[in-house]
Amino acid sequence: MAGSAFVTHEVFNQVPPLGDVDLWNDDLALQAAVAAFGTSDAEEIASLAAFGERWGSAEMAEFGRLANENPPKLRSYDPHGYRVDRVEFHPAYHALMRESMAAGIHCSTWGRDARLAKPGAFVARAARQMMSAEVEQGHQCPIVMTHAAVGALLAEPALLRDWLPKIRSCDYDPSFQLPSLKMSVTLGMGMTEKQGGSDVRANTTRAEPDGNAYRITGHKWFMSAPMSDAFLVLAQAPGGLTCFLMPRVTPDGAMNALDFKRLKDKLGNRSNASSEVEFQNAYAQRCGPEGEGIKTIIRMVALTRLDCVIGALGILRSALMQAIHHIRFRTAFQKKLVDQPLMRAVAADLCLEREAALALGLRLAQAFDRPDDEDEIVYARLMTPVAKLYVCKMVPAFVYECLECLGGNGYVEENPMARLYREAPLNAIWEGSGNIMALDFLRGGAREPEAAQRLITKLAREANGLPNARAAIEQIQKSLSSGNREAHARRAVEALAQLASAAALAAYAPAVAEAYATHRLGGIAGRNYGDALPDDLALDLMRRSFARA
Ligand SMILES: Cc1cc2nc3c(=O)[nH]c(=O)nc-3n(C[C@H](O)[C@H](O)[C@H](O)COP(=O)(O)OP(=O)(O)OC[C@H]3O[C@@H](n4cnc5c(N)ncnc54)[C@H](O)[C@@H]3O)c2cc1C
Repeated sequence: MAGSAFVTHEVFNQVPPLGDVDLWNDDLALQAAVAAFGTSDAEEIASLAAFGERWGSAEMAEFGRLANENPPKLRSYDPHGYRVDRVEFHPAYHALMRESMAAGIHCSTWGRDARLAKPGAFVARAARQMMSAEVEQGHQCPIVMTHAAVGALLAEPALLRDWLPKIRSCDYDPSFQLPSLKMSVTLGMGMTEKQGGSDVRANTTRAEPDGNAYRITGHKWFMSAPMSDAFLVLAQAPGGLTCFLMPRVTPDGAMNALDFKRLKDKLGNRSNASSEVEFQNAYAQRCGPEGEGIKTIIRMVALTRLDCVIGALGILRSALMQAIHHIRFRTAFQKKLVDQPLMRAVAADLCLEREAALALGLRLAQAFDRPDDEDEIVYARLMTPVAKLYVCKMVPAFVYECLECLGGNGYVEENPMARLYREAPLNAIWEGSGNIMALDFLRGGAREPEAAQRLITKLAREANGLPNARAAIEQIQKSLSSGNREAHARRAVEALAQLASAAALAAYAPAVAEAYATHRLGGIAGRNYGDALPDDLALDLMRRSFARA
């Protein structure tokens, strides 16, 4: 206030709030990748544009903030001592769920018979998921698991027939009652136990046949989204490890015997509830044959792994947008930061990294859009763990570098960067952490060596002529043919991810592909961002990543 006794100085050179952004129209790189690997259908593009405008609004960003600053609470009992077993969420969480479900992120790839809904459905969905992840990641957990659950349900047609219509409904319904009385349902997954998450064969939870259903007793150490209407759960049946569908409410309308012990106090992902739970003779139905639990649930996990990549891409873009916005406005040493050569080098290198990851992620989504093409099936199978390891693992270092672009302002909780930083490691951990992904790729390659070799040859052909492509291929082959393949698996997978990124970029952005290959392929990247690029390319990369001036 002018004339106030407390005025010591004028505030200046602080960056204006980001305000409303357009997550589609301002992201030229995303538009180009969708056009290359997905759809150019005018109606779909218009819908993506509307989605990007809505999700970029300051109102949606505020929902994201509120949902994370007011994390869910477990209410086990009502005031009179009766069990209620509810998780209470802030209204902002419900608003995010409602909007994501209205846009069909939980189901849009599935047609009435669980076949692909339409050409390009996976890529269009990936674009929406990525844009929503730019705003809020926690609520995506139930969205992603609901979508992926269809993969497991395909193993049990009767369950699929009962659940698919409610899964395909876009009217969010958080009520806790029989699924048949609800407008829509969400599903979760329970695999991880105290003694092991990667090695689920060590599960001790038991399943006893009971008429045409089963009774399950045991525990899960991490089971997210406990307000889901049902969970795909692994348990030891008489015939071995088996997948089950465990509803929250039994068919007679009673509350199922899921005893939620507590919610995890997590580093990030705070809007999402993740529980520790015990099953006390809980009702469940078998999903797939006894003894084929891993084979069944892996069809769900393959889909959630794709979504981990896409979610990670959302975090990359969100952090990058904040960084570019900041350096365009902030002045230091008489120049805008963006005009300081070293800051420009850092920002452009970040854009290059993100654009290559985006190309890889959407190229992977394209493979899921082509379930009848043998080569694409191989691409999806082998490149999902590769992309998950590579893209998810880059997020913490990437977000940290973006955070540092904001200087001290990046380190305070009022800024979304702190939330992004806490969220950054998660996509790499769940659904199979880094080493497990590398080993998964090795196992897949060993099971079908000819298909794996064909894939590498195809990528080499697509990247042919790019700088360092030959060195990258040699690096991959050397790591794969080493005597101790497991110990070399990380390097092989990273080199393959970089080659596949360059190959994907080459399909639609040759200048970006050339720069990426020059600065990444063949193991030549530095440990930190900041490779200098030609000035016009640097500016173009920044414009492609965030077009708003
Ligand atoms: C926020 C959050 C939510 C979650 N939600 C769910 C959920 O809803 N449902 C669910 O089922 N799980 C959930 N999880 C669990 C998650 O999937 C597991 O934590 C993850 O799979 C790893 O299992 P673990 O924690 O038992 O680690 P471990 O299996 O003990 O692995 C520890 C480390 O060892 C490495 N490792 C394991 N085996 C090998 C090997 N052979 N060679 C080399 N390295 C190896 C792993 O890569 C990892 O880095 C959640 C986790 C988090 C953090």
